[in-house]
Amino acid sequence: MPDHPEHPAKPAQAAGSAQSTNLTDILNSLPELLTAFNQKKVMVFSNWKDAPSPEELARLGQERQICAACYLKNAQACSPCHIEQVFETGLQKSMELYEASTRSFRSISYFPIRDQTGKVTMVAELIRDITENRRLERELRLAKEAAEMADKAKSDFLATMSHEIRTPMNGVLGMLDLALITELDAEQREYVEAAQNSAESLLSLINDILDFSKIEAGIVTLEIQAFLLRKRIAALCTMFGPKAEERGIRFEVDISPDVPDGLMGDPMRLRQVLVNLLSNAFKFTDKGSVRLEIGLQSNSSNHLVLEFKVIDTGIGIKKEDQSKIFGRFVQVDSSTRRRHQGTGLGLTICQKLAELMGGDITVQSTPGAGSTFIFHAKF
Ligand code: ADP
Repeated sequence: MPDHPEHPAKPAQAAGSAQSTNLTDILNSLPELLTAFNQKKVMVFSNWKDAPSPEELARLGQERQICAACYLKNAQACSPCHIEQVFETGLQKSMELYEASTRSFRSISYFPIRDQTGKVTMVAELIRDITENRRLERELRLAKEAAEMADKAKSDFLATMSHEIRTPMNGVLGMLDLALITELDAEQREYVEAAQNSAESLLSLINDILDFSKIEAGIVTLEIQAFLLRKRIAALCTMFGPKAEERGIRFEVDISPDVPDGLMGDPMRLRQVLVNLLSNAFKFTDKGSVRLEIGLQSNSSNHLVLEFKVIDTGIGIKKEDQSKIFGRFVQVDSSTRRRHQGTGLGLTICQKLAELMGGDITVQSTPGAGSTFIFHAKF
């Protein structure tokens, strides 16, 4: 802060007691600059150093002072005057000023000082140098912008690369399909089928990465259309039925009768979330059942919320892992990870899609007994 020629210098000494001397010492030691004005806008106390005392000012006939805000604005009187305003309203006022000559920022507040009856007898002005705070804020903002740009560049790169890899992968899969309908001996068939399995895993991995990077880049939008819920769910039964049978696991679907059939929403994204949750349920269940329950959670004039529950009797998830599994690339148990393929991106994508659909996904689980994933979506 520059020297303030208009402000009194020597700290005002409250007369008398040791306690008031202590108080003055405390005020004089504050890193903030504190000044108090009376109703005539005369300075009655200031902890600014090197300025004339009130007595000296009175002698100089300069008892009427300008506040720091005026001073920092090249000694132009503020209009309206902050001190007068606080006297009138009894309310605190705060502002921030930039001092170009020293390239520094000040936070200035004016607040009322009341006597025991509650009357405002003085207004205090508190000035704090916040240049360092502003510098740190600016650095943080720049660092955040740089990190966001780098993150976006990474997402764009992944999205482009995944797309570029997907096209030839589809070619590979098509050719393997064709190779499998030609005449092959047992050994050749085994090799081609193994290649087909690996190519399918790679494609599903690429699809996950593509989806994830598109969601991260904020370019996934829902394609809203009319669809029949029960028909879509029947397609899921056709998809998972044989798998369940093969593994000796019961697959049950229950749609509550109050759930309407005709809905407006994005059936492909809904399918994607349910396929993911059901695939996980089958992946982590060796015996018992996987059950899909669909109920109506709420219904208003312009939308309804459906609740989808995917309930399995599989290995379950430990309490401490339940919040982690929605994080990117998280697979909680390395022993199961070796047994079950996956990227740890499925639930992250599902959670983001659920949010896009105005809902969420949560999990309840008991290790050894099974898990229930609850997914809400708005239609
Ligand atoms: P992944 O592609 O590896 O399955 P997800 O994001 O879908 O990735 O799931 C993350 C992790 O959450 C899984 O690796 C698994 O450890 C756990 N998990 C998900 N669903 C279930 C479930 N139904 N039962 C037990 N564990 C599950």
